[in-house]
Amino acid sequence: MTKFKTVIEPFKIKMVEPIKMTTYADRKKFLDTAHHNIFSIKAEDILIDLLTDSGTGAMSAAQWAAMMEGDESYAGCRSFFKMADAVRDLTGLKHIFPTHQGRAAERILFSIIGGEGKVIPNNTHFDTTRANIEYNKTEAVDYVIAEGKDPSLDYPFKGNMDLKKLEELFEKYKGTKRIPVCMLTITNNSGGGQPVSMANIRATKKLCDKYNIPLFLDACRFAENAYFIKLREPGYENMIIKDIVKEMFSYCDGATMSSKKDALVNMGGFLAFNDDKLFTEVQNIEILTEGFPTYGGLSGRDLAALAQGLREVVEEDYLEYRIKSTQYFGHKLIKLGIPVLKPIGGHAVYIDAKAMLPHIPPEQFPGHALCCALYLEGGIRSCEIGSLMFGKEDAQTGAFIPAQMELLRMAIPRRVYTQSHIDYVIEVLDEVNKNKNKIKGYEIVESPPFLRHFSAKMRPKNI
Ligand SMILES: *Cc1c(COP(=O)(O)O)cnc(C)c1O
Repeated sequence: MTKFKTVIEPFKIKMVEPIKMTTYADRKKFLDTAHHNIFSIKAEDILIDLLTDSGTGAMSAAQWAAMMEGDESYAGCRSFFKMADAVRDLTGLKHIFPTHQGRAAERILFSIIGGEGKVIPNNTHFDTTRANIEYNKTEAVDYVIAEGKDPSLDYPFKGNMDLKKLEELFEKYKGTKRIPVCMLTITNNSGGGQPVSMANIRATKKLCDKYNIPLFLDACRFAENAYFIKLREPGYENMIIKDIVKEMFSYCDGATMSSKKDALVNMGGFLAFNDDKLFTEVQNIEILTEGFPTYGGLSGRDLAALAQGLREVVEEDYLEYRIKSTQYFGHKLIKLGIPVLKPIGGHAVYIDAKAMLPHIPPEQFPGHALCCALYLEGGIRSCEIGSLMFGKEDAQTGAFIPAQMELLRMAIPRRVYTQSHIDYVIEVLDEVNKNKNKIKGYEIVESPPFLRHFSAKMRPKNI
């Protein structure tokens, strides 16, 4: 760690991708044409794209070099063994199955262990995890601690599992084999990218052992979680990240992973576990739906880049830059008086749009209104996580049921933007905040039956 305040990007740039500059008038036209839905705007008409940190990162020179050495053999390719070694080196897990992305690992796992009458707990299930569990007629329950649900509360490990609630569930179904697995999502993406402490992972495992239930990690952001442990949990401040990661995985029996996050690649995932009995079943479904088990939906070069990405993501300099640059962004917004979710998570900054735009009621989608304002003002793309995404209508009365929170997420792609890009975003947000009273609510013009936020047509109210 450097003694200087400025945390520099720990890389220099050798290949660049131009950003197309646009004017306010251009953006107004693009937004109108897109029916005010940010997903329908072409990526080249975006200046700074903070829609997601999934698969949007930049690979290193070493990863591109590794790709040239990718082995494209159908069966038993060298790149698979390199990838499996890299996964095993960090997780210690025995069986490794590559998949085309994280949700494919989830689908394979839950189609085997799920089923009618079963229940799977998690701190907070990510939406694809919940959907894959429910698709297999299994109940998905969220037991994040109460602190994790209060957006303004500053607490070091808001992703922790509520062990009391978990034990009550285990006790309720004791001896029934109705809980095939317990999951723990590190960091807790749907809860604001908040970390889980080592003590909580250890205690969750202990409880699982007591009731003979395997613990699986949803490990998408395992390295970011490890860095938070190093920063915030006594006893870990002098440990190297790789050892923290190894300890985290030593408490689990398996993991699902989206390599689009902390494996620093643009596509990929894996399912890893120890259970020999599960091996054959997973292998059969893998062959049926993803491909031969030594490539599982990925090219040899993808596996090669993934193996290298796993080595780079646990580097201290990278993680210090990753976490501190996200904190830099969030703390500047706090200074400007913009209400953000606290503390700042690992991969994104979330604005509490309900608090920032109190004149826009939830049924007029304050998060979406802010999202459009940010695009118009500065060409920035962000993502509403509020009533457009999760709001419902009462089946009987048609009354509007708002989401729990009205958030706007600005996710930071890995190694893509520099501090000046982020400074620009901060300046745009400052401007939007100064004129926030002029921001109008929205209404839905046309909406599909499910996952409406991706394709709904919207329009500003009173126009
Ligand atoms: C992204 C993500 C997934 C799903 O992974 P995909 O690669 O998008 O299919 C699952 N869990 C968490 C916590 C995630 O962030």
